[in-house]
Amino acid sequence: MELTPSEVWSHVLGLVQERMPELSFRTWLHGTQAVAVHGSEILVEVPSDFHAEWIEDRYGDHLKELATRVTGQEVSISFRSASTSGLRVAPEVAVVQPPAPGATPSSPSATPDPGGRPCHGSLNERYTFDRFVVGNNNQLATAASRAVAENPGRSYNPLFLYGGVGLGKTHLMHAVGHAILERSPGARVAYVTTEQFMNELVRSIQQATTREFRQRFRQIDLLLVDDVHFLERKDSTQEEFFHTFNALYDAGKQVILTSDRPPKELPGVEERLVSRFEWGLVADIKMPDYETRVAILQKKAADDGLTLDDEVMDFIARSCTSSVRELEGAVIKLLAYSSLRREEINLALARSALEGVIRDGGARTAPRLTATRIRERVAEEWGVTSADLASKRRTRQLTVPRQVAMYLIKELLDESLVRIGEGFGGRDHSTVIHSIRKVESALEEDADFARRVIRVRQHLESA
Ligand code: ADP
Ligand code: MG
Repeated sequence: MELTPSEVWSHVLGLVQERMPELSFRTWLHGTQAVAVHGSEILVEVPSDFHAEWIEDRYGDHLKELATRVTGQEVSISFRSASTSGLRVAPEVAVVQPPAPGATPSSPSATPDPGGRPCHGSLNERYTFDRFVVGNNNQLATAASRAVAENPGRSYNPLFLYGGVGLGKTHLMHAVGHAILERSPGARVAYVTTEQFMNELVRSIQQATTREFRQRFRQIDLLLVDDVHFLERKDSTQEEFFHTFNALYDAGKQVILTSDRPPKELPGVEERLVSRFEWGLVADIKMPDYETRVAILQKKAADDGLTLDDEVMDFIARSCTSSVRELEGAVIKLLAYSSLRREEINLALARSALEGVIRDGGARTAPRLTATRIRERVAEEWGVTSADLASKRRTRQLTVPRQVAMYLIKELLDESLVRIGEGFGGRDHSTVIHSIRKVESALEEDADFARRVIRVRQHLESA
């Protein structure tokens, strides 16, 4: 029997998940969806252009091979960013549980019916209350989330959680979803990013199917809308957001929203929507204090079967003061270092890993290290030429090594951003900053990538 593109893709994801480090999977492939098929080509929608390039570059061949294996015929896969969706099918809202049997799909046939096609992957299975450490930074938010989990639609509706990046908002909202599903396995829980929600909304407006859109959302028992600070000032979409929201609210359905700031500070969001957001409970999450950071490290170590002694935990907890994500990133980096250098994790290793520098006797970088040398070494590692990296060419294979080279030049030579940009086809400093940030976040999230960059770095430093 013929498989649909999304069936093929979910088989492929299942296979690749077993073969890939969990973090890499979560970072790059989790939640991606096949949206169309042209001949033997499957089109997969991913969160950003950067994802598209990265996935194609690093996992493309492997994924293609798995897809070919699943379908028994030659298949190619291409990746496209969801954010640049034009006429294409926007990502579907993933409903964790299927609707009651017999429910009829209401969407047009061009789009898969989200109700009929449950996506069990849409809640991160690690984001449970069990794994969430309560500290004074998140006490109210956690208590409110637990109350909502016990009494959905009745205690605080909506629940609005806000706070900086990487502090646990998404984790908490998923935890509510898990808790509700655990108690009532038939509950329909939907998790969407604001971007996905808006994309669907825009499409339904274009296709004049907003009624169906609303109807579909009304079947949901718990709606989780992540990062509403991305809600854009487009009057018609805000209007529809408002109606959807009211429809759910009136039907006694629970809504949880997250944002990086409180409702009142959302720019361009209409006053009446702001006041709807404030109807229930607004709770903030802050950066955990030192004790809570240590508790999170202890929990993480215990959950992942790691041993980190007190000294090391103390060092990490003191060094990471910007987010919980940074704290987790530090542990991953440390593991990468430890496996690369085949050394046990101890304070000295933690120091060199987290300071990001391994220098014998504290000597400064060897004088002969130059931007050109760094570019060459990175080019060699990624199998491209140094001249290509220095050129203006914008080819996918060049994106990642170019970003890494910029990052290493900044780290090792401390050159100005403008000068770094000059060495790469005259790119401006904002491109350089963007590239460096991309590498920094990938280093925190992808242990394989971190290992590769560290290896290049060590090689350069020991030359
Ligand atoms: P946000 O959505 O606020 O940007 P996330 O929910 O994605 O942040 O959290 C970032 C990471 O930190 C996740 O891996 C999450 O599991 C972890 N995390 C955040 N807060 C806690 C906590 N209190 N206990 C355990 N893990 C946490
Ligand atoms: Mg989040």
